[in-house]
Amino acid sequence: MADDRTEKTIEKYRNYKAQDEAKIEQEFLKGTKNENLGVYCDIFSAKSGVDGQDGGIVTALLVKGIKEGIFDLAIVVQRKEGYNAEAVVAENVNDVMAARGTKYLRVRVTPKLRELVDQGKKKIAIVCTPCEVRAARKIQQTLKRNSSNQEVTILGLFCFEAFNGAKLKEEIKTRLGVDIDKAEKTQIRKGKFIMHLKGKEYSCKVRDLGKAVEKGCHYCDDFSAQLADISVGSVGSQSGYSTVIVRSEAGKKLLENLDIAKEDAEKEEIIKLSRLKKQRAEKSFVSRLQSTTTKNQKRIDIT
Ligand SMILES: Cc1cc2nc3c(=O)[nH]c(=O)nc-3n(C[C@H](O)[C@H](O)[C@H](O)COP(=O)(O)OP(=O)(O)OC[C@H]3O[C@@H](n4cnc5c(N)ncnc54)[C@H](O)[C@@H]3O)c2cc1C
Ligand code: SF4
Repeated sequence: MADDRTEKTIEKYRNYKAQDEAKIEQEFLKGTKNENLGVYCDIFSAKSGVDGQDGGIVTALLVKGIKEGIFDLAIVVQRKEGYNAEAVVAENVNDVMAARGTKYLRVRVTPKLRELVDQGKKKIAIVCTPCEVRAARKIQQTLKRNSSNQEVTILGLFCFEAFNGAKLKEEIKTRLGVDIDKAEKTQIRKGKFIMHLKGKEYSCKVRDLGKAVEKGCHYCDDFSAQLADISVGSVGSQSGYSTVIVRSEAGKKLLENLDIAKEDAEKEEIIKLSRLKKQRAEKSFVSRLQSTTTKNQKRIDIT
């Protein structure tokens, strides 16, 4: 239970965040607002012809966007040596294809967006986790305020949590006896972390990898990238398909005539995960505030 002071601080933070989000929604999004899914105008499950992480939808959208000149460049995340990753600028279809697949790491992509904006690039797409979507929208708000003609399209990924690369390597070695640096593909599905290596599959429960989760993720309350133009994830779809949430005119335009097979998505699954993530964030926030208050109290008692 939170005490009065903690409750007040949380309330203040909630109000500030709600106002901030409402502004972004008003400026960039279009559709009906759902408490757990955010603003959206369409939601479905889909599979493209691309062999991606799930339905290859993100890559298919980027390829289409580049081919049709909807954007000139895309900021994607590419695997580096071992199980590390970095944000890179894809200038053509080959670059986009080379970045397929999820790297379950927290990668800061918005510094690259700032660089491209500073270079005067006109039409930029960016793929990011919900935390980075928010940062990308801030940059876009500044562009809008300055009446810039630079356009940014934001493709958000569902995200429950990300791992610290070094800690994940250690945990996987201990639990599965293999080196994640050599993994050909990693996947999280139905509560399991799955690693593909030389034709074999190794897996453990995601919950057993708790020690490797980035600390900041415990305070994060957005699962489905609620401020993106299009959000894509695996939850809500059968294996080999992606769940797609369309949230803006820019998102709608990008999806037009995309060659995909469509099905209904299981909305309830996304709602369940979204609620769970919000509850975890709230709990972490309360316990952090309470421990800070106790520490400060102790300091006052000593002096
Ligand atoms: C850290 C993380 C956690 C996730 N957790 C969940 C989850 O809990 N539930 C769920 O349903 N979905 C989750 N996803 C999303 C899911 O794994 C797929 O990325 C999504 O379904 C898109 O699939 P696709 O086949 O369309 O992707 P693809 O067509 O294969 O394209 C993937 C795109 O994602 C980009 N990318 C890869 N890693 C990162 C990264 N770390 N940061 C930013 N961009 C990246 C690549 O550059 C590529 O453009 C997570 C993604 C990330 C990055
Ligand atoms: S859980 Fe939140 S903070 Fe962590 S990587 Fe995902 S979106 Fe970012």
